[in-house]
Amino acid sequence: MVYTDTRDKNVSVDFKTAVMNGMNAKTGGLYIPVEFPKLSEEFLKRTPEPSFREIAFEMAKPYVKGEIPDEDLQAIIADAYPFTAQVVPIDPITYVMELFHGPTCAFKDFGARFMARVMSYFNRNEKDNLHILVATSGDTGSAVGSAFHNVPGIDVTILYPEGKISPLQEKQLSTFDGNVRALKVNGTFDDCQKLVKTAFIDEELRSKFRLSSANSINISRLLPQSFYYMYSSLLVRNRILHDSKIENPAIIAIVPSGNFGNLTSGLIAKEMGAPIEGFVAATNSNRTIPDWIASGEYNARPSIATLSNAMDVGAPSNYERIQAMYSLDEVRKMFASYWTDDEGTLEGIRKCHEKTGYIIDPHGAVAWSAWNDIRSGAMQELLDGKASGDYTKPGLTPNIPVWAESIKEKRAVGIVLETAHPAKFGATVNKAISREPSIPERLEKVMKLQDRAIPMTKDYDSFKAWLTANL
Ligand SMILES: *Cc1c(COP(=O)(O)O)cnc(C)c1O
Repeated sequence: MVYTDTRDKNVSVDFKTAVMNGMNAKTGGLYIPVEFPKLSEEFLKRTPEPSFREIAFEMAKPYVKGEIPDEDLQAIIADAYPFTAQVVPIDPITYVMELFHGPTCAFKDFGARFMARVMSYFNRNEKDNLHILVATSGDTGSAVGSAFHNVPGIDVTILYPEGKISPLQEKQLSTFDGNVRALKVNGTFDDCQKLVKTAFIDEELRSKFRLSSANSINISRLLPQSFYYMYSSLLVRNRILHDSKIENPAIIAIVPSGNFGNLTSGLIAKEMGAPIEGFVAATNSNRTIPDWIASGEYNARPSIATLSNAMDVGAPSNYERIQAMYSLDEVRKMFASYWTDDEGTLEGIRKCHEKTGYIIDPHGAVAWSAWNDIRSGAMQELLDGKASGDYTKPGLTPNIPVWAESIKEKRAVGIVLETAHPAKFGATVNKAISREPSIPERLEKVMKLQDRAIPMTKDYDSFKAWLTANL
C-alpha cells in the first residue's frame, strides 16, 4: 500500500516508513493510505460472520502487502488480540460495543497493541533497541506501556505529571518492570511533552539512540481500530432480525470522541464495506468538531477539563484526516453530531442505568445520551424543522444526515461505543447512580503492585543525563 500525506499529495511512502516516522516531520501532515480496498462481497455476506481475528487479518492485509507476509501478520494479530470487542444488546434497537476487554480496560489497547507488534516486527533486524518516549496525561501511557511490555527490541519511557493523574491511572503506568519504565515529572503535562519534544530534536542524543514516539496519530494505531467496527456491524446485521425483527436495518455507530481517531477508524471500516449507514460524532464540552459541522468553520481551541477526560481535546488532530477523506457536505450527510456538558454526562449515566440496567462509563455516557436523544425525538424535530438550531447549547447540530428517515421508519439500530470500563471512573459513576461499578480482576491486581516510578525534574539537562545513563 502507498501512503500519502494530508498536507501534500505528492508524498508517497510505504507502510514501514509511515509507522516508524509517525507523522511527516517535513510537512507536519498525517499519513493516510491512498485507498481503502473493499472486502469481497462473499466475505461480507458470510453467516455466521467471520471471527474478530479473521476480520482483522482480511482488513489489515492490503495495508501491509509486500511488507509483512501473511503468516507474520497472522502471528501479530493473534498476539495482539487474545481479547475481542464484546457486543451487548441493552434494548431492542441498541447494542453496546464494549471495547474495554483488553489489559488496561480502555479501547486504546486495540490500537496500541497492534502498533507495538508492528514496530517490533520492523525493528527485528536492527542491532539496537528502539526507544519509545511518550508523554501522557493519563490513559495513553498505560495503553502504550502495557502494549509494549515485554515486546522484543523495544524500550519504553513514559513521562507523566506527578500528582496530576488519578491513583488508578498512576498505578496502571508506573508498575511495569523490564523494558517499560515511568518517570514522574515534577511539573505539568506540557512540561512532560516539552521534555520529549526537546529530546527528539537533540542531535547529540539522536546520534546515540534510536528514538521514536507512540503517538495516537500513528497510522498503525488507526487501522486496527477499524476491525471492531467491521466485526460489530456484521454481527448486528446478522442478529437484529432474530433479536428485534428488523429486516432492513440502518446501522448507526455512535462514537464518544476526543482526538477523533476512533471515529476516523469507523470511516475506514465503512469504506471497506462495513454495513454502517452513518455515524454520530459525540463530544463533551470540547465541541470543536460539532461546531465545525454546524457552522462550517473549524476553530481549534484550548481544551476544557470534563468528567470524560480522555475526550478533552480542543484541537483534534484527526480532523485533518477526515477532511482529506470527505468534503464538509459529505460529512454533514453521513454524521449527526452532538455535544453535552458534565451535567448531561451524569444524567446519561443515570438514565442509561435506569432505562436499561447497564452501567456505562462517562465517555460511553456521552455517546449513549446522543443516541437516546436521537431516537426519542431530537431527530424528528430536526426533520420537522422544529429544532432550535442553536448549536452552542447541548444537543444535536442542525444538519440532517441521510439516514435521518430511518429513525422515523423504526429501522435504525444504534451501536454505542463503550470506550472504557466504568470501574476506571468509579467516583463519577457513583455520583450518578449511587453505586460503585464492580472492578475487573486485572484492575484490582494492578492496585496492589509495587510503584516503580522514578522521580524526575522538568529540567531538560537532568532528563537527558538520565536517558544517557539508563537507555
Ligand atoms: C482516548 C479515548 C477516547 C477518545 O478517542 P479518540 O480516538 O481520541 O476520539 C474516548 N474514550 C476513552 C475512554 C479514551 O481513552
